[in-house]
Amino acid sequence: MEIALDANIKYLKGVGPAKAALLGKLGIFTLKDLLSHYPRRYEDRSRLKPIAMLELGTTEAFSGVIANVRELRPRRGLVILRVLIRDATGTAELVWFNQSYLKKRFRPGMRIVAYGKIERFQAKIQVNNPEVEISEEREGNTDRIIPVYPAGENINQKMLRQLIKTALEVCVPPENLPPEIMAEYKLMKRPQALTAVHFPPTMEAVSEARRRLVFEELYLLQCGLLYIKQNNKNQCGIKHAVDGELVRAMERKLPFKLTVDQVKALREVKDDMEDVRPMQRLVQGDVGSGKTVIAGIALAKTVENGYQGALMAPTEILAEQHYHTLSQLMAPLGIRLAILTGKLTRRAREEVLDYIRNGLVDIVIGTHALIEEDVNFHHLGLVVTDEQHRFGVVQRAKLQAKGQHPDVLVMTATPIPRTMALTVYGDLDVSVVRQLPPGRKPVKTLFYSGQKRQEVYAGVIREVERGRQAYIVCPLVENSDKLDLQSATGLYEELTSSFFHGIPCGLLHGRMKAQEKDDVMARFYRGDIKVLIATTVIEVGVNVPNATVMVIEDAERFGLSQLHQLRGRIGRGEHQSYCVLLSDAGHEEAKARLRLMTQVSDGFTLAEKDLELRGPGQFFGARQHGMPDLKIADIIKDIDILLEARKAALKTVNSPETMSQVRRALDDAFGEHFRMIFHS
Ligand code: ADP
Ligand code: MG
Repeated sequence: MEIALDANIKYLKGVGPAKAALLGKLGIFTLKDLLSHYPRRYEDRSRLKPIAMLELGTTEAFSGVIANVRELRPRRGLVILRVLIRDATGTAELVWFNQSYLKKRFRPGMRIVAYGKIERFQAKIQVNNPEVEISEEREGNTDRIIPVYPAGENINQKMLRQLIKTALEVCVPPENLPPEIMAEYKLMKRPQALTAVHFPPTMEAVSEARRRLVFEELYLLQCGLLYIKQNNKNQCGIKHAVDGELVRAMERKLPFKLTVDQVKALREVKDDMEDVRPMQRLVQGDVGSGKTVIAGIALAKTVENGYQGALMAPTEILAEQHYHTLSQLMAPLGIRLAILTGKLTRRAREEVLDYIRNGLVDIVIGTHALIEEDVNFHHLGLVVTDEQHRFGVVQRAKLQAKGQHPDVLVMTATPIPRTMALTVYGDLDVSVVRQLPPGRKPVKTLFYSGQKRQEVYAGVIREVERGRQAYIVCPLVENSDKLDLQSATGLYEELTSSFFHGIPCGLLHGRMKAQEKDDVMARFYRGDIKVLIATTVIEVGVNVPNATVMVIEDAERFGLSQLHQLRGRIGRGEHQSYCVLLSDAGHEEAKARLRLMTQVSDGFTLAEKDLELRGPGQFFGARQHGMPDLKIADIIKDIDILLEARKAALKTVNSPETMSQVRRALDDAFGEHFRMIFHS
């Protein structure tokens, strides 16, 4: 009997309600999900090394027979499980901490395979927290190459293998790539590829099969992105006229000369705006590279042409800052600006909405409040989102939908590596502002252990005495607003009652009311607050040129890109700035990251390193970037395939017939992702 690919997993032989629930935890709901639950790695059993040959410091798989199992409780709250395994050449000890439930899995005499980092402890080979597999739990352990899956609670390797085997027997996954693409790029057929990744005859077959599946995934994604782009280009948008007096007046009024990169990006923006096809442009610029002024001139251009412009920022602090900066430049030219944030009173809001609807304001600057349903524009010509990495694709689309194919300008200060830009922003044209305005003194970045805390804070006080201001960034507490709050208030209390006793300090965190936040920020801008103790809420956009010191506590908890964003808050004025990373991190990866911060000041280089060090999944803000869920492709390692796939996709979207062939597969693979872009 054949079962459809999108059938619920519970219809598969061997899956009852309980197992279906457990599979669900692994993200497996349908047969299709099961077949695309790809192995994380493979073990070539013919090459398992004898224990005596294992190399210290490497991560390897080896096998042996359990000699004994011991559980130690050296102190309260600590349980250590030690399993000694032996082969003909030696012994190795496997160690787990506080995972006593594992104990019952192991009995002396069992043959197991372990995988982990080979270390030495008191002259013994030791592996901490290895992945293990008990040979009896696996059928066909005579196979030479064994796939290893991401497994879960009560779902082991053997089960997954068995289920996938059954699934491949009851359904034949149809081919989903156009024949000419298959031929041109010499791709393996889909059913074969799926069989080979799950039941690999040889490692060569695995790599061929993997290439096919990675290609498929990236090709479909690119087809979707390029299709959106194409579609957009076919729309009839707004054709702005070449620069007139208003734009020229604004450019003359600037208190500085634009950098070469700014001029180039601005030219690209203007060219797009002067074209009848709607602009869809991303301006990527390092922190402090001066993107705001580019947006400002573009907004003036749309006003000059009789349209309204909107600028959306991710926080109220930032929206207000933009409103302030742009008002100074534009109000004297007779441009009418309004601000729309969540904190307006109902009456004030009604009034602003009324002005916007009737075309009585030219430029509206705001937060998410701009995309609420009752915000209607008279004639929207240009939409700008600042710090796009803080918005979803959906929010961008919502603002865009408030006009009739308005021009769209997206700005981000989180430089993202090229591979990632193609995967996330493949539907946009990209301008890059890499260079910083002249005269900036690079921030000096220092990395110290926590022991130096006292000296570091003494240094902060010296800067304050010279009239400067400082940021102290609280340790990052992952995914918890509540803990964030505790850590922020805790640090504030500690510092104000010790090091900073008698110095005006302020506290800023995400859980404060908008009014309180503004109040603190306003006092910091004015210089009434000398030291601002804050969570990462200050990471985006805040511009206080007199602030010259930043101390980041437990710096190892932050990713490179985030550290760079934070550091971008200083070094904005004439004085030398200092960023101090405090950390007692033990592990090498973290130290490497912090050392890199002290050496590299360019955001693009850091972003690339970050992606390399932590992988796409961990890359800071991957989610916020609107990163699609990739099942098999690795956008760093598979860059060559990505470029091929993009080339193929470009051809496909230009051929309606081929495009209609992949429509279905595209929907299957990325339907959710693109629905977010299309209908919202
Ligand atoms: P970001 O790209 O991070 O958004 P901003 O637009 O906030 O950067 O600019 C940072 C600072 O640099 C602002 O104070 C701005 O006035 C200033 N600035 C921008 N362009 C130039 C320039 N060409 N020369 C000198 N200063 C500039
Ligand atoms: Mg900015």
